[in-house]
Formats: sequence, C-alpha cells, structure tokens
Amino acid sequence: MTPSNTSAPTMIVTQQDFLDLDKQDPLASLRDQFEIPTGLIYLNGNSLGVLPKAAKARMADVISREWGEGLIRSWNTYNWISLPQRIGAKLAGIIGAKEHEVIVSDSTSVNLFKLAAAAVKLRPNRTKIITEPGNFPTDLYILNGVKNFINQEIEIITVPSNEVMQHINEDTALVCLTHVHYKSGTMLNMKDITTAAHAKGALMMWDLSHSTGAVPLALNDANADLAVGCGYKYLNGGPGAPAFLYVADKHLKELEQPLTGWFGHANAFAMSDDFEAAPGIEKTLCGTTPVIGASALEVGVDIMTKVEPQQLRDKSLALSEYFIRLMEPLCETYGFELATPKDQSIRGSQVSYTHPEGYAIMQALIAQDIIGDFRAPNILRFGFAPLYVQYIDLWNTVKALEKIMHEGSWDQAQFRAKNKVT
Ligand SMILES: *Cc1c(COP(=O)(O)O)cnc(C)c1O
Repeated sequence: MTPSNTSAPTMIVTQQDFLDLDKQDPLASLRDQFEIPTGLIYLNGNSLGVLPKAAKARMADVISREWGEGLIRSWNTYNWISLPQRIGAKLAGIIGAKEHEVIVSDSTSVNLFKLAAAAVKLRPNRTKIITEPGNFPTDLYILNGVKNFINQEIEIITVPSNEVMQHINEDTALVCLTHVHYKSGTMLNMKDITTAAHAKGALMMWDLSHSTGAVPLALNDANADLAVGCGYKYLNGGPGAPAFLYVADKHLKELEQPLTGWFGHANAFAMSDDFEAAPGIEKTLCGTTPVIGASALEVGVDIMTKVEPQQLRDKSLALSEYFIRLMEPLCETYGFELATPKDQSIRGSQVSYTHPEGYAIMQALIAQDIIGDFRAPNILRFGFAPLYVQYIDLWNTVKALEKIMHEGSWDQAQFRAKNKVT
C-alpha cells in the first residue's frame, strides 16, 4: 500500500480510491479510540494531539477518586510517586531505549536545559555546542541560557544540519539537533550524526518532539547519549502534558544536572539539608510531578505502545505521499511550494508548503473545519498523525483548498487578522 519512492504511476486518483484506502487500512480502527469532532479534519496532531476517549474517564477518576477522596494518601495508594518512572518505562519501548533510561518530567524546554547543562559538565574541557539555525526556537534559546548561566565560555555554533558532521571537532562538547524539523518535516539520520559526534568525543542530544509516536525511533541502536521529547504532540498527552527525557545508561552514574530539586534526591523524604542525587534516571527530576497531566499523558502513551512502529510509519508515509501528489496541480496553478523532502527516507510525518499568503489561506481552511497551522514567515503545515488521520481527509482537504484558491475566498480581512497563536 505504501507508495514507492520512485515516480510510480499515480493509481490513486478518485474520491473512491481514498475511501478504499481507508477500508484497507490496518490501523483504521484506532481512530475510534479518539474523540474527534464530527466533520472536523484534524491535520495538526504534530502540534497538539487529539483527546483519547479513555483520557476522559481516567481524568474523572484521577480527579474525583484519587485527588478528591484519596487526597495526600494517593501518593502511595495510587502510586503517584512513581508516575514519572512508570510512564518513562512505557515510552522506552516507543523510542528504542531501556526502561531505566527514560523518565517523564517538566517541559521539553526545561529538560533541554537540564541535559545540555549536564552535557557541558560531562565534557569540561570543551567549549562548543553545535546546533542548526532555524532549529525550534526554544532549543536555541535554552542553549543560550546554558551559555549565559552555566558556562560563559561556551560558544553556540549554528550550522545547517547537512553540514553539522564536518563541524564537529575536539572542542565540541555537545551536538544538539531536532530529529524531525518542525517546519520542513525533514528527518535527520540519527545514527550517522551520533556516530560522527562520538568520533570526536562529543555528546549527542536529540530533540524527539516531532518524532515520538510519528516515526520509528532507536536511541540505543544509534548509541544516542541524551534525548528529550514532547508529550502533547503525537503522543496525545493533552495540552501542556509533561515531557520526557532520556539518558543512556552509560552516563547515568556520572551525569549531574543543575536543577537539583527534591524529587531528584536519593531519598527525598529523608528531608536532609544536603542534596544527594538519586543514583539513576530519577536524578534528572526536579519538583513535584503534575499528577493530573501525567495521568492524561499515560493514556496517550498506552495507546501508542500497542501500535507496531513500522505499521505507523507505513501509513504516515502513505498519507504524506498521497497528499503531496494531490497537491501537485495546486502548486503549479496557485504557487504553493513544497518545503518537505520528496525523499521518503528523510521525511517525518508532516508536509509543509510555502506560500506568500500562507497565513490567510490557512485561516480560510480552518474556517471550514480543516485544521492545519501556519509557521512564520510563510509556511503552511499539515501534520499526518497516522493513528487517526484518514485517507479521505487528504482528498477533502485538497478539494477544499482548491476551491478556496479558485474563488480567492482567503483574501478577506477576517483571515488576514493575526491570532496570538498561529
Ligand atoms: C514542540 C517542541 C518543543 C516544545 O517545548 P515546550 O517546552 O513543551 O514548550 C520543543 N522542541 C521542539 C523541537 C518542539 O517541536
């Protein structure tokens, strides 16, 4: 079913073809596990995942029984205290790591700070951190924060991702890259870049925010040192869900991180004045777990653990490939330009186009309940979360977009007015 990477003849052309693809989709039944408003086409799971039906019941239970009735006792009776490790262990299977290497905590930004600072400390005689220009903004901002507050000798070097490998040298402490780029959807070669970093003695950190639950991941196989990732995108953990982090076990003993809060203590309830780091991955925790948010995240993670990653990848690529093909005539007629690799081996689970009027065009689509998003200055993004996006959604989206462009209905003040969140 997966379209080949070469220019195979386009066999899938009619609305019925797309309906048939849904009928043959081995993952089709998973959509029923999510609450998706009738009539809505949701192509933004790369930014905020949808609501798992089971999360509603779980939230009601956590709030009424665990919080309402159990109160403080629930730290023990419902084992709130182990939520970070328990969900981390489940995530380990999804990202190709060992259970004791992954933990849920804080936001992706905070986890980036903790681990980048830790990396700098693990490589004390090295002064360079390499990343790419146009990386997700928080990654760049946080690395600058590490320079300003942890070690002002550090120099942040930004080079295009395809040149990173040749810039790594004996001064490099850390290479920090996002595995699937948030704008272009380009996927980097985790193993090759990690190997190049190690060849010069540098550490490698991957931001998996746009990869986790979207593409197969193998952190251990790539020998990755550190990683962070997001809970509210493809994992469907809910708005502002806690994030996760990974530390390869070879670094767990030595690693130190700057936010030495009580949850990272070897024995938090000894209430000692002196900090003593927990021996394992728990040392990366800082403060109290957001129990409600973590409980919602667990529901999303549980669904993801039941899916075969290659099946997910096959559907994701089929969705993006058919979308690109359907969009080809619109590119020619209306000036959309594909900003995502045509080569499937380096494509994540989203497709982006540039268009000078991208913002207003996206608002016009959203007004018709077809939800993608816009990233400045000119990118329209369409995310294809393979757990619940249908093939027919591709057809309906491109038909609606064609109509909007043909009629010029995007060209209205109401669609040009900028919202705070795009
Ligand atoms: C979404 C995303 C984040 C999110 O960081 P928060 O701290 O959760 O706001 C970080 N990095 C990348 C690459 C992302 O895509």
